[in-house]
Amino acid sequence: MKLLVWTVLCFAGAFISGLVFAQTPDWNALGKAWWAHIQYLADDSLEGRDVGSAGFEKAAVYMADQFRAAGLQPAGVDGYRQPMDFDVVRFVESNSWMELIGPTGLVSMVRMGDDAILGVNPHAAEHVEAEAVFVGYGLTVPELHYDDLSGQDVKGKIAVYITGGPGNMPGPIKAHYESGEERRRALAKAGVIGTISIGNPKAAEVPWSRIAASRFQPRMELRDPGPDAPPAMQMTMAFNPDRAETLFAGSGHTFAEILAAVNADKPLPHFPLAVKVQTRLDMTRSEAKSENIVGVLPGSDPALKNEYVVISAHLDHLGIGAPVNGDKIYNGAMDDASGDASLIEIARAMQKSGAKPKRSILFLSVTGEEKGELGSQYFAAHPTVSGTIVADINMDMYLPLFPLKYLEVQGLGESTLGDDIRAVCEQAGVQVQADKEPEHNRFIRSDQYSFIKKGVPSLAFKFGYIPGTPEEKIFKAWYSERYHAPSDDVNQPVDMAAAAQFNAILEKLALRVANADSRPAWKPDSFFRRFAK
Ligand SMILES: [Zn+2]
Repeated sequence: MKLLVWTVLCFAGAFISGLVFAQTPDWNALGKAWWAHIQYLADDSLEGRDVGSAGFEKAAVYMADQFRAAGLQPAGVDGYRQPMDFDVVRFVESNSWMELIGPTGLVSMVRMGDDAILGVNPHAAEHVEAEAVFVGYGLTVPELHYDDLSGQDVKGKIAVYITGGPGNMPGPIKAHYESGEERRRALAKAGVIGTISIGNPKAAEVPWSRIAASRFQPRMELRDPGPDAPPAMQMTMAFNPDRAETLFAGSGHTFAEILAAVNADKPLPHFPLAVKVQTRLDMTRSEAKSENIVGVLPGSDPALKNEYVVISAHLDHLGIGAPVNGDKIYNGAMDDASGDASLIEIARAMQKSGAKPKRSILFLSVTGEEKGELGSQYFAAHPTVSGTIVADINMDMYLPLFPLKYLEVQGLGESTLGDDIRAVCEQAGVQVQADKEPEHNRFIRSDQYSFIKKGVPSLAFKFGYIPGTPEEKIFKAWYSERYHAPSDDVNQPVDMAAAAQFNAILEKLALRVANADSRPAWKPDSFFRRFAK
């Protein structure tokens, strides 16, 4: 009800009495309170909150303290904490190399960083030598009878593919099968031992230089990922699309020809490459511990309080890495201190209003998102509450960079949560948009996907805009200039008042879902319904 009042006031603010106007939330003040958490979490002293770092520990202490102050009850394993163990590997460039061996035995070195990067994981092989096959998009989609691997001799070989998928493939299906996990499952089943991915320049989010710099990030894996984790590849490589032509030498095909087919959305050819791939990978190994921070606002209905509506964000970011313009701290202010700040502010708002939702609302700040959604995966495999998780409302860099007129909702058409967010936004005078760039796979690229795979209806968000407006420019510039860069820090322009309005919308959404007669459900035609228990 409050939101309806705000909306009316926002639209008619200039014409109504000061008394009624005083009931409008002070968005500026609320925005500043939200920003204060980011100032702490994204401060240089927290060193980018890398998993297992002292900076992350400070952030975890802060979140637990804030959850307590907001009246949430501890819902971890140890107070608010849910600890977990990681295996960590780091790339040793001086002792690693990659080369392509041509049909005549001619060897061409692949320059690490400039041409390609070698992926590390605890199960990667030290040495790999294998033939390579180009497999188009490298996708296997059983329900569409689409299989880039069929008819190819890929056993014991390296699969080379371009990221993305056919234009006519529905977004969610493409997104699901493009996820690293599903790919690995299908590739391993076909006997593939390694992969070379070539980024589709059509969908490039960040320049190659930033991808190249990422090779020095430590790679972590959960020690206990749960029973559903697919096997690891022996070798993974990402190739610079500007240099990919060398892979195709002597094959009778060119990368230019493949790109032309991608751009025209024509079927891609599949063929063995003429070059053999040889790699040597050196890694150092260590261990790390980290934790999720979990608090709960217990439900008030005796029958429904064992159902949990999760609101989540991730607490980790990239830590300290390759310097950009002399700055080596990847502060992660929008990614995703903004989401954690929202978790705190939403909990505080519920405390202030004395909200007594029927279902329980679980506030979850996870670790390891940047390492592959590991903290949420761990939580989904080892929930700290007994009962049923009925929804995940996830916040991961929703980007409050301009006024909140449009809210882009990922997963909008997939479950009844889409109807809920529509209703809440309508009351707030905010227009809902579906995902404008489904090719970026954002619905499966953050922690909500750990829940979706367990059958839990979920949503994620971005501030929306109309294409061709200055807002689009701001949004896209943020990705090219600040996404996963040290400049995602506290010295960037952010619309704090708009963030506070977003927080209010998510608060209403969580309460609406927690109080509804029936729990959220996937739409009958949703692709993701298959995971429902
Ligand atoms: Zn990120």
